[in-house]
Amino acid sequence: MAIMSDVEHKETHAFQTEVTQLLHLMIHSLYSNKEIFLRELISNASDALDKLRFQAVSNAGLYENDSELKIRITFDRDAKTITIADNGIGMDKNEVIANIGTIARSGTREFLNSLTGDQAKDAHLIGQFGVGFYSSFIVAQSVSLTTRKAGLSREQGVRWQSSGDGQYTIEQVDQELRGTEIVLHLGEDQAEFLDDWRLRSIIRKFSDHVSWPILMIKPDYSKKDGDDKENIEVKAPEWETVNKASALWTRNKTDIKDEEYNEFYKHVGHDFEEPLAHLHVRLEGKQEYTLLLFVPKRAPFDLWDRDGKHGVKLYVRRVFIMEGAKELMPRYLRFIRGVIDSSDLPLNISREILQNNPMVDAIRKGTVGKIFGLFEEMAEKEPDKFKQVWKTFGMVLKEGIIEDYSNKNRLAKLLRFSSTHNDTSEQEVSLTDYVGRMKPDQEKIYYVTAESFAAAKNSPHLEIFRKKGIEVLLLSDRVDEWMVSHFTEFEGKPLQSVAKGGLDLGKLEDEEEKKDLEKKEGDFKELLDRVKKSLGETIKEARLTHRLTDSPACLVGDEHDISATMARILKDAGQDVPGTMRILELNPGHPLVIRLKNESNDERFNDLSRILYDQAMLSEGGQLDDPPGFIKKLNKLLMEMAS
Ligand code: ADP
Ligand code: MG
Repeated sequence: MAIMSDVEHKETHAFQTEVTQLLHLMIHSLYSNKEIFLRELISNASDALDKLRFQAVSNAGLYENDSELKIRITFDRDAKTITIADNGIGMDKNEVIANIGTIARSGTREFLNSLTGDQAKDAHLIGQFGVGFYSSFIVAQSVSLTTRKAGLSREQGVRWQSSGDGQYTIEQVDQELRGTEIVLHLGEDQAEFLDDWRLRSIIRKFSDHVSWPILMIKPDYSKKDGDDKENIEVKAPEWETVNKASALWTRNKTDIKDEEYNEFYKHVGHDFEEPLAHLHVRLEGKQEYTLLLFVPKRAPFDLWDRDGKHGVKLYVRRVFIMEGAKELMPRYLRFIRGVIDSSDLPLNISREILQNNPMVDAIRKGTVGKIFGLFEEMAEKEPDKFKQVWKTFGMVLKEGIIEDYSNKNRLAKLLRFSSTHNDTSEQEVSLTDYVGRMKPDQEKIYYVTAESFAAAKNSPHLEIFRKKGIEVLLLSDRVDEWMVSHFTEFEGKPLQSVAKGGLDLGKLEDEEEKKDLEKKEGDFKELLDRVKKSLGETIKEARLTHRLTDSPACLVGDEHDISATMARILKDAGQDVPGTMRILELNPGHPLVIRLKNESNDERFNDLSRILYDQAMLSEGGQLDDPPGFIKKLNKLLMEMAS
């Protein structure tokens, strides 16, 4: 009977396809780091204990008279099992299905597609994605997880079992103990882990920083191999704590080794790699709080998911309160990972209280200031490291110029750009560098925006600047357009787009050139009128320029028009962009323009004007309305030349 009903209650579920794929890849790629399974399971147990303690603040009944929170690790050489048990929050059936049977993370598909089949590379990627619970299958043939959620009755226990081969079973069981117990049935060749010394050293290496006690049974050295089991008195096991079991951030900086910081980061950051830098400070004053924050080496997969998880955990007097509180960290620092532990916030703080709370605002402000301090010091003393930060997170940091008015000036000094100074796509020029290189009479900081580095670098708008040796910043990240629209000056120097308004070089203007251009204006008046008439509503106006040295023509916007790049970005995003006509500027010294001036055949005049317009459009990375028409006109002219 019992067996029958067992079978009836046991449900078999198929893994989400992504899980099966991930499991398979993980087992193969992480085999050389297989001991990390223990770190991952301990990390989950520690999180479960954190969650229980937080909920028990407002509902002490959840402790069920067992408030000594801990993690216990045992092994059985004969059964070839390792068991990891915690008396934490536990899970109900739906939670088991949602948390253990699926990967509900944004970017999962992209992540799987990014895998290459190259073991070393994939191991990195998988680590970055987060290995978690599934790492159990690196060493286990089958895994059995039994759990009961705090506050539920003992009949509401749940057992999940799987051999990692595409499906799992789930059933309701009687479970007296609250929390989660995971039994790993080790694979044939994993006997090395059935060893007290080995397990302890793995725990000390990877999980020493865990703030909860991790217990193991004290080995009984009096027992010898070969002792007849029947004759040994069964002694109650004596448990001992294997790890330091104190919150790392509360310890003295000088007593903490780099490895401890690194392992702690892997736990809070759900990362596989070491962090790039850390910041550990205690702030005292009106508000007292401790920061232990990390800058990851690589961007997480959900970096561009602006609503994705934020990486900082809030603790109050060492009690974990919540993960990813957006109120504590501005969005443009969403890649920072770690812990903020406040001495002053109430323990029963909720998400609602976090909003518009002056204490929280003060903590955020202080935290952001410290992070800026870290970056400023790094930029000065370890510029290569800062270069790496910029390469990985620069695009996110730029959002701060738009979002964080109060720190704009500080952030502006950290910005790094490509520029015509060295013409490389690597962004390494700071505004301070730029200002230091400005010509004696230069008043403005010049920039060009385009959709790619190549388009920016080759923009015809740069020709006069290159000729005169005036540096121009080359902006081609998507966020740049928005950034410059919020960023009008740096240390009193206005930022000026080289593709907007008439060419205004201020005191750098060559009076001779200007006079020369004015003289030509009369000469070319007829041509300009004819071009405008020929192109009609395609352009706002045709005029002469001396900003071009090599190209015959370019397009510019009026000072307050939205830029062409911005218009294209908005269009791509499906927005209606009011058609802004642009100004066609012609280079009076260019043979093609002179030829146009002398063209008497109307049809050829129209073709050539249109070609000049289309070329100007192409050269700034824009798209033509009618590419076949352009080619037809061009070929017609080429054939005339040939004949
Ligand atoms: P992560 O820890 O990054 O969320 P994991 O794969 O390690 O990913 O775990 C998935 C989820 O399963 C956890 O977020 C948690 O909700 C749940 N979980 C895992 N282990 C436990 C545990 N010991 N107690 C309670 N919940 C757990
Ligand atoms: Mg985990």
